[in-house]
Amino acid sequence: MKTGFSYFGVRRVEHVRADLEAMREEGCTQVLHTWSEEDLAYYGDTMARIVGESHKLGLDVYANAWGVGRVFGGEANSELSARNPGSCQILSTGEPVAAICPNHPAFLEYMDGWIDAVCAAGVDTVFWDEPHFFFRKGRVGEWACRCSACRSLYADRFGTDMPLLPCPEISLFRQERLLGFLERWTTQVRAKGKRNNVCLLPDAFDAGLPDWGAVASLPALDELSTDPYWSDDDPLDKVVEDYTLYSDRLVSICKLHDLEPQMWLKLYRIRAGTEHFAPAAAGIARAAGIGNLMAWSWRGSDAMSWLRSDDPPAAHAAMVSAFRRISA
Ligand SMILES: [Zn+2]
Repeated sequence: MKTGFSYFGVRRVEHVRADLEAMREEGCTQVLHTWSEEDLAYYGDTMARIVGESHKLGLDVYANAWGVGRVFGGEANSELSARNPGSCQILSTGEPVAAICPNHPAFLEYMDGWIDAVCAAGVDTVFWDEPHFFFRKGRVGEWACRCSACRSLYADRFGTDMPLLPCPEISLFRQERLLGFLERWTTQVRAKGKRNNVCLLPDAFDAGLPDWGAVASLPALDELSTDPYWSDDDPLDKVVEDYTLYSDRLVSICKLHDLEPQMWLKLYRIRAGTEHFAPAAAGIARAAGIGNLMAWSWRGSDAMSWLRSDDPPAAHAAMVSAFRRISA
């Protein structure tokens, strides 16, 4: 049984080490370190030392491109679109947004460097976290991206100008493009002797990768994961329903493609009195046959006010005892 937490917000190595020692003592086998644009620019050697300390403690290390380009998930700022004028994503409404277009050559070049640095630091698995075209929750009808690079590629692919309204061709275009990038990146990572995990957003998000089977078919993929996190007001029934649905889906797709399934548990913004939700979700995933469980994030996300749980120690303790119970 593999269990662990994501970890971020601390770049002073002795403090990271103390936290990782606690994580190890609590029975965890692995950790995910976030690796943002800021980390790549200013914390290269520090990040390598953090990976090294994790390994010394016996923890397997994942790293994700946290908020990079705003093409991947995460609460990290991105300056890629500002550094590369004309590269930002354009909504179907014509509005530019602060996210780089993955179809812009500057993004591919940046990601090549990111992969080099992360793999050179010795991580075990690169975690491709929620790759997506830009979307805003609750904004129906708008979609991305309709920038000049996308319109040109779309015209090459379909022989017409890119429509304004969503249609099957736009879905196919976005899926093909994101899949192509994932194929490129996972191939590069495997060539460096490292593993790949792609984490897919649940269906409710208009991310651009609706066909999970196509992602699972990527030849250099090792693990497939998802993160069906509940909303603040969701009852336990909804948590059970979603984790049952997505656990079963992960297990069946992974069986078909000889991949390891990994499930993410929500451990941020845990409302008081709902600390049993994440343990219940973990139990469902384990019962479905998933032996790799991770929680976002360490200690109920207490260090980040945006994500902090109402009672971080209680949320964390409930998660740790669930991990221990499942691992026994
Ligand atoms: Zn674009």
